[in-house]
Amino acid sequence: MSHDAAAKPASSTKLVVRNIGLLLSGDLDHPILDADAVVAVDGIIHSIGKEKEIDITGASTTIDAKGTALAPGLIDSHVHPVCGDWTPRQNQLGWIDSCLHGGVTTMVSAGEVHTPGRPKDIVGLKAMAIFAQRAFQAFRPGGVKVYAGAPVLEQGMVEDDFKELAAAGVKFLGEVGLGSVKDGVTGRRMVAWARKYGIQSTIHTGGPSIPGSSLIDKDMVLETDADVIGHVNGGHTALPDDQIVALCERSPRALEIVHNGNERAGLLALRTAKELKQLHRVILGTDSPAGSGVQPLGILRMISMLSSLGEIPAELAICLATGNTAKMRSLNCGLIAAGREASFVFLDTAQQSAGRNLLDSIQKGDLAGVGMVITDGAISIQRSRNTPPATRVPEVVQP
Ligand SMILES: [Zn+2]
Repeated sequence: MSHDAAAKPASSTKLVVRNIGLLLSGDLDHPILDADAVVAVDGIIHSIGKEKEIDITGASTTIDAKGTALAPGLIDSHVHPVCGDWTPRQNQLGWIDSCLHGGVTTMVSAGEVHTPGRPKDIVGLKAMAIFAQRAFQAFRPGGVKVYAGAPVLEQGMVEDDFKELAAAGVKFLGEVGLGSVKDGVTGRRMVAWARKYGIQSTIHTGGPSIPGSSLIDKDMVLETDADVIGHVNGGHTALPDDQIVALCERSPRALEIVHNGNERAGLLALRTAKELKQLHRVILGTDSPAGSGVQPLGILRMISMLSSLGEIPAELAICLATGNTAKMRSLNCGLIAAGREASFVFLDTAQQSAGRNLLDSIQKGDLAGVGMVITDGAISIQRSRNTPPATRVPEVVQP
């Protein structure tokens, strides 16, 4: 092997994105970067800066952003996948691919609870979680990364079950409260076991989601102390306002706001977190597929809704769906920063929006147009089939 080959293996890929009009970092503390180019090598961000200052030579793919905005690929913190790109909840095919066209590149399962005949015995639930984790690790619809294999807590689980699940690769619990564990004492004990072995937890918050499920109030949420207060705005039915405020004030955990929840309650949680100067705790999900269906543009809709009605700058609203979620969920995506996964969404003002520019259009409540999505350094889609059309779209530069 020659020296050059050793330095850059034949399989190595280099992606250069230049002529970026607005670089949205996903980081709440520095949401806009003073840079117009990003380089990724083998799917990982290598450098960010002014085109003249960084090495853009030797690219295997070059993209001219045409002055559009580049943001981290959006993360949906709360989905309910089952198997493949199919959901039995609404008997719909291709829902994950459709969300990719809404700029989503990463999804976190809150439990494969819609699985027909879902096993509730402990051997069965562990087997299903490991199967889902394995299947979605190997299957990425359109390039979307789905962190699945999220077992729901059932009575009778012991510490060794969590140890075994963690050793098998399970990283997330399904929503606490969707199984037979419905009291804070048991929930807290099992969540602590999960945490001990590196498995992150989420709790269902609010009224029953479907017939057969039940209310989880603020006392159970606080006592269980899961890592993520799942749909703090209800999924769909929200807790009373004073309980939502209490969760914001008395828990240090992530505050997840979902599309399939109560929108007024979501705005209350956002405003309370903002007043507490704890916007870093706010993360976004759709909680789809669900009774309300699948919303391919759900995360973009949340960004516009929270920015326009919650009165936060659009560049910060985008952080809620990217860097905040990545940090709260320990994912190596969601930020435009060296060493992070090179998963991006190109955004521009939707055609004919009344907004003066992309950020102004979002703050006015319009949806952004998606012009391209990249997952792990490779182009997944060009102009979105689902968003309103972006005014400008990036172009692949022919060598
Ligand atoms: Zn739920």
